[in-house]
Amino acid sequence: MDVVILLGAPGSGKGTVAAHLVAQRGFMLIASGDMLRDAVTRKTAAGVEAQVYMTDGELVPDALIGRMVGDVLREGPADAHYLLDGFPRTVAQLDILEATLAACGGTIAAAILLELDDDEATERIAGRRVCPACKAVYHVVAKVPQSDGVCDTCGTALIQRDDDLPETVAQRIKIYHQQTSEVIEVFAARGLLKPVVGTGGGAKVTERILKVLT
Ligand code: AMP
Repeated sequence: MDVVILLGAPGSGKGTVAAHLVAQRGFMLIASGDMLRDAVTRKTAAGVEAQVYMTDGELVPDALIGRMVGDVLREGPADAHYLLDGFPRTVAQLDILEATLAACGGTIAAAILLELDDDEATERIAGRRVCPACKAVYHVVAKVPQSDGVCDTCGTALIQRDDDLPETVAQRIKIYHQQTSEVIEVFAARGLLKPVVGTGGGAKVTERILKVLT
């Protein structure tokens, strides 16, 4: 088993490129934000615990998300290639990931860092609309669905995420810089960090990622 980690600020395009990478390279995707939102919708114990943090734009406790991601990795096939979108976001989460991988005989293949400035990320998030069913991501200007407000793929009504409202976005970006920069430094020190320019469309950014992965 090996994992490729996708790092980047909220709005840097992780979800969009993850979808491209899954389609083109057959990665098994673990998107921590999607897992948590599903848990909140289903009102599981983890979802109830996570909701208050997510609404405030804070990170959920490391042990909570570490257990959720760890369970998926432990239950998956031993020869899987995973793509982790949004995890780990703290050094404590990285420790949990490494302990899990050690137990499963897995390794970290690379950590991709999507680089985008905060103003552009904020602008992208302001226009972001998502499909709550299939998780497809749209934008009111840059990626408009064929039929207004409806997912092209599955026909579900699109929504704006609660945590995509402006005051929460500013907090999420601040937390990203405070907490995730340390994780980025660890990957850089180990020679695993692959910075990729995050401007341009998802297809273009995916092309850049595939280049650094080969
Ligand atoms: P995302 O969809 O990745 O932007 O995540 C949305 C929200 O879910 C974040 O603002 C956090 O509240 C929570 N979240 C997602 N992934 C993590 C993580 N690895 N650690 C802690 N909280 C997370």
